[in-house]
Amino acid sequence: MRKRVKKVIINIYPKKLFQKIRYRITGSKRPIRSWYIYERNTIYINADDVHEGILAHEMAHAIIDHYMRVRPPRATTEILARYVDEHLHY
Ligand SMILES: [Zn+2]
Repeated sequence: MRKRVKKVIINIYPKKLFQKIRYRITGSKRPIRSWYIYERNTIYINADDVHEGILAHEMAHAIIDHYMRVRPPRATTEILARYVDEHLHY
């Protein structure tokens, strides 16, 4: 791994506030459970609909985005993050 990276911020909100924050930040009303913003190094989680796989998925995004010298394309990080949450208990 490269040098030490900053700690990831994890913001957990109740569902209604989560949706409000999501709309304020992204302008999207598309229903999602969580998301990660590289520029803010922050994970946003809906507390009413979270499980360890979701948290692992978003943590994977944060680690992958900071692990490589050149940030991989979003589609690549999505594949890797899905692998992490699908294989969390294997
Ligand atoms: Zn993802």
